[in-house]
Amino acid sequence: MMISKTTFLEFLMCPKNIWLKRHKPELLDMFSLSPFELQLVEQGNEVETYARNLFPGGVQVTATEDEAVRETERLVLARVSAIFQATFVVDGFITKVDVLGYDETSRRWDIYEIKGTNSIKEEGSDRSHIDDLAFQASVLKRARVEVGKYFLIHLNKEYVRAGDLELDKMFLVEDMSEKIAARLSEIEEKMDAAKGYLSRTDEPSEGCDCVYSGRSSHCSTFKYSNPDVPEYSIHDLARIGNSKKKLSIMVERRLFDLNDVPADIELSEIQVNQLRVHRSQTAIIEVDRIREELEQLTFPLYFLDYETFAPAIPMFNGYSPYSRIPFQFSLHILRDPSVEPEHVEYLHEIASDPSKPLADLLVRSIGAKGSIISWNKSFEQGVNREMAARLPDHKAALERINEQMYDLKDVFHKQYYVHPEFRGKTSIKKVLPALAPDLNYGDLNIHEGGQASDAWWSMISPTAPEEERRQIASDLRIYCGRDTFAMYVIWKHLYQLAVGV
Ligand code: SF4
Repeated sequence: MMISKTTFLEFLMCPKNIWLKRHKPELLDMFSLSPFELQLVEQGNEVETYARNLFPGGVQVTATEDEAVRETERLVLARVSAIFQATFVVDGFITKVDVLGYDETSRRWDIYEIKGTNSIKEEGSDRSHIDDLAFQASVLKRARVEVGKYFLIHLNKEYVRAGDLELDKMFLVEDMSEKIAARLSEIEEKMDAAKGYLSRTDEPSEGCDCVYSGRSSHCSTFKYSNPDVPEYSIHDLARIGNSKKKLSIMVERRLFDLNDVPADIELSEIQVNQLRVHRSQTAIIEVDRIREELEQLTFPLYFLDYETFAPAIPMFNGYSPYSRIPFQFSLHILRDPSVEPEHVEYLHEIASDPSKPLADLLVRSIGAKGSIISWNKSFEQGVNREMAARLPDHKAALERINEQMYDLKDVFHKQYYVHPEFRGKTSIKKVLPALAPDLNYGDLNIHEGGQASDAWWSMISPTAPEEERRQIASDLRIYCGRDTFAMYVIWKHLYQLAVGV
């Protein structure tokens, strides 16, 4: 079985995971990409397509498998100026070079790797861009290609679109030759190790080191490799990933169940509360603290939520790579605790910049008095700051909105309300079902922000059928509306506790 660059990089991240992928086809479902991950892959392909325009006269290898290698050989012999997807197979390794460019001066081939990122990953635990290039360097060395330099092409986060895209400004081309030379021998050793490890037919008993990491690091095969660990375990203790020593002590003693966490393990206040509510199955509710918190708010209350899409290639003027396009907001307005909230919403349904019409309606709907309530306010405030930079006429109003903003998550973050079903988290998706079991996201076609972003992108596609567009628009309205209504319901729950209703 050939080892590709992707396989090798996955091996560096986790040998066990890639072994399972290769040798356990029955687990394949666990490895499928989510719609959001697929969208990222699509964006990466789009970036590559744009970056190829930096090499006029370049020729793409169109053949597949063995024929791709032969086509590459013909193009190399013909000394074409640039070859896209130049393919080499040697010693059990296969690589496809994004751009193999011929330098007439040095009479050597230069390797260009295109990354759809705003920066290079070359430091600390993530050196994947350097390792990626070093893998290609090794394969081309084995194939006896005379390589000159190694470059990484990536997006320039400082670039701001003004009219037609300026590719020479939107992309940065960085010479990584010295770093590749310094890393090559280490990578070659690892390539040999990968070959040995992945050719094993017996399943490696060792290697699932995530048992020493918090839940967020686990891949989808964690349960398969660690059947003794319960579905809700010590790995779910809040921020336990930051205190690996504590986790290791418990793992070594095989104490995975939250009921077995020993008293001699020093826990943070949040972790202690999480254990307490889990063991007693009773919520912690600090009514006086909640009341003080809610007393900071002034009516009307505006429950606000944005949905955004962040494309790698800026779609409109005033945007940089990965700037967020705010395509939707939902706003529930509560003028008095005794009445039902009003609802205002905006959804941009065409492929143009939504900022102006969205901000027009938002600013018209939010008065100078009152509190704006969001969940994770740094997100909404960031979107407002970015809109303010594009819309000078609304700058003052958007800044005022930011000043009036209150983060409803604070009540839970500050531990004034801790419920066993939160499982140590404070996201609205965890809090809502515990406080309002009848109102969750299970009945919706869109359940989370990444999916909403993906759906909007599909909806504005010129090829999307009308019926599909209508359905997506309806799903998006319901989803975003649910977020702000959920905040209202959570606020009401807290308010009733605070006033003793
Ligand atoms: S859970 Fe972690 S260590 Fe285990 S296979 Fe997955 S990524 Fe690797």
